[in-house]
Amino acid sequence: MSALIEVRDLERRYSRRDVHALRGVSFDVEPGQRFGIVGESGSGKSTLVRLLAGLDQPTSGSIRFRGQRVDGVPERKLKFLRSELQIVFQDPMGSLDPRMRVRDIICEPLGRVDRERVAELLDAVGLPADAGDRYPHQFSGGQRQRISIARALAPRPSVLVADEPVSALDVSVRAQILDLLADLVDRFELTMVFVSHDLGVVRHVCDTVAVMRQGEIVELGAVEQVYDQPAHEYTRELIAAAPSLRAALAKLTEGA
Ligand code: ADP
Ligand code: MG
Repeated sequence: MSALIEVRDLERRYSRRDVHALRGVSFDVEPGQRFGIVGESGSGKSTLVRLLAGLDQPTSGSIRFRGQRVDGVPERKLKFLRSELQIVFQDPMGSLDPRMRVRDIICEPLGRVDRERVAELLDAVGLPADAGDRYPHQFSGGQRQRISIARALAPRPSVLVADEPVSALDVSVRAQILDLLADLVDRFELTMVFVSHDLGVVRHVCDTVAVMRQGEIVELGAVEQVYDQPAHEYTRELIAAAPSLRAALAKLTEGA
């Protein structure tokens, strides 16, 4: 049995700027897993996401989805991936066309408007039924991220990739969006690849975490294992530098 997503020895150099964004990145994502990727800004997380989605090509290495090669495959042959793997980006405003009605935005991945599906999706993400008639600017940041999530779910993907999905949002709505993502992953039996610079956020929604530093995975394992007994010095530094996580962990220890 092969994994759902198999990443092997991935390298990505940006020759124009002489940046080595990914080096020797390998991991498997199993069906139903909530796979977190955590690392500081510039560690290569978004580069990895673009490669997983076939939006960019590695310098070397391979990516397989259900055993099928994703890297080096021309756009017209990636239809299978477009319906199976969908991405939610950090900035809902930047990724939603302001001139399009929410209904049309949500149906974009389908290539046609399906009002019944829009109604189901609006309900699933907790938006009012009449939201489809409106435009993105008529919603709050959190609601706009709900619209992005509805769009991502439209083609009934098996994998949801979220790249810093709450980083641009007000702190007060972050937990709501994270809980929504977790609920949807459960309900639709999705596999999730979840990317964040914030360890606390990853701990909240993931069961497995890969820690990235300067384009490399320095540690990978079950969330409790990595957070409670970090094996790598860099993971320990990241944990020490995360004030919210430190406070949360202190509370946990107090209670114990
Ligand atoms: P992260 O998402 O973890 O913040 P990125 O994958 O965006 O990291 O970036 C990793 C490194 O690659 C950074 O040094 C960044 O400046 C560089 N980089 C990202 N995209 C490009 C690009 N299109 N061209 C050149 N360099 C890039
Ligand atoms: Mg990024």
